[in-house]
Amino acid sequence: MKRPALIWLRRDLRLTDNPALDLALTQGRLPVPVYIHDPAPAPRPGAASDWWLHHSLSALQRQLRAHGSDLLIFKGETTTWLCRIAADTGADAVYWNRLYEPHAVAQDQALQTALRETGLEAHSCSAALLREPPDLLKADGTPYRVFTPFWKALQKTGPARAPVEPPDNLPALTAQPPGALAPDDLQLLPARGWDAGFHPHWLPGEDRAWRQLQSFLDEGLTGYAAGRDRPSQGATSRLSPHLHFGEISPVQVWQHTRQWADRQDHPDAVAAADAFLRELAWRDFAHHLLFHYPHTAAQPLDTRYRAFPWRSDYRADLRAWQQGRTGIPMVDAGMRQLWFSGWMHNRVRMLAASLLTKNLLIPWQEGAAWFLDALVDADLANNSFGWQWTAGCGADAAPYFRVFNPVTQGERFDPEGSYVRRWVPELRDLPAKWIHRPWQAPAQVLAEAGVNLRETYPLPVVDLDSSRKRALAAWARIRQLPR
Ligand code: FAD
Repeated sequence: MKRPALIWLRRDLRLTDNPALDLALTQGRLPVPVYIHDPAPAPRPGAASDWWLHHSLSALQRQLRAHGSDLLIFKGETTTWLCRIAADTGADAVYWNRLYEPHAVAQDQALQTALRETGLEAHSCSAALLREPPDLLKADGTPYRVFTPFWKALQKTGPARAPVEPPDNLPALTAQPPGALAPDDLQLLPARGWDAGFHPHWLPGEDRAWRQLQSFLDEGLTGYAAGRDRPSQGATSRLSPHLHFGEISPVQVWQHTRQWADRQDHPDAVAAADAFLRELAWRDFAHHLLFHYPHTAAQPLDTRYRAFPWRSDYRADLRAWQQGRTGIPMVDAGMRQLWFSGWMHNRVRMLAASLLTKNLLIPWQEGAAWFLDALVDADLANNSFGWQWTAGCGADAAPYFRVFNPVTQGERFDPEGSYVRRWVPELRDLPAKWIHRPWQAPAQVLAEAGVNLRETYPLPVVDLDSSRKRALAAWARIRQLPR
């Protein structure tokens, strides 16, 4: 009779390439997969992420049942539950995959100690990144703070491990421990049907993640480098929520992308694969930075920016930004795409973040909090990193004098205005020439397109030119402070 062992699942909601599960099986254990919804480790992503989690847990439970096993779901304090389930099932070990956010690192350390004090074995594995943070450092042993050398080092070494195979079948426990819940009992779905718009865009779960990768490799990768900045083209992989919840691992993505390029046997395919894997590497970079500089979850990496003169009277402007009513079409399109689909294109994330922090001088933490609540791919490391990069106060940030101009960016990356037309339908009939700057359009053009500025669509909340100058002056002052 095999000894039971708990497989504590968090953001590794997959069976293939799951090193903790694989290790338990290799060591001859009877795996008991467990998910514990612990309200304590903060900060947690919000409502859109919870929507995804609900469906991902349901998918994994179905998948495990099809293999003969089950996913046991509990709610409450993690260590207490793990010890209780171990006692109820006769398990004498817990296996899990490591995460790198400050609260997860602290939780893992406390858990190791608590389990060993209780007489349980604790085994943790590397699964969430291409390389673990202590494993990819500069020659002098310090962390990389600039992306290009980080990427070169990662390209040279590749991922730390090869993906592991899925289990054939997973025997079940004969009796379920008391207290197990169904995904519905966690009450993760939003009230009032806000998620209605998510369903056409997303299907959480390992099967879907896998199909998403396959179709991206077969149909999307060759056009990725040219199309990835065009928000209307759908040229990116849309793997971010699948990666966040660990429905697919970055090591699998890396390996299958490289194999795809090998099969094409063409230098263009290698270049396309490199362009995509370079973006994937930003994910590792962001997680490494948060691991090495845990304060960056909430505070700027460049500590001079703690003294930044953010506005304090910004509530109305923040609301307009959240609602996609800033009067700047690219930003409004992005904020509405976010609200209705739970996701926003990367180029538009940068434009929306730049308008909020630079033109409106609203603290980046306000924008980051909204994104964490509204993104299905909400991820503390990627989000804090993306916001600080755009705000110019993080690692390898955009140069402080770069203030994205959402009008010229729109004309460059959405030249026909298709993206704006889709998400801001009240501007749908404006000619491409004016769609990114409706406030400058002649009155007759506006009238013919049925646009009445102020009534059907707002005037800009801020003057882009003067606010840019104001931002540059403020940033220049901060940069004179000693580091
Ligand atoms: P692809 O272009 O297909 O890239 C493949 C994968 O690489 C992505 O799924 C993602 O895991 C990773 N990746 C790509 N670009 C980045 C990047 N700049 N930083 C980190 N990882 C990257 N990404 C999140 O996953 N969660 C967030 O909460 C998040 N918040 C962001 C906030 C701001 C202000 C900005 C500017 C960016 C943010 N990003 C975040 C990064 C990026 O926008 C998304 O990862 C990307 O848009 C996801 O789409 P995709 O899967 O089609 O990307």
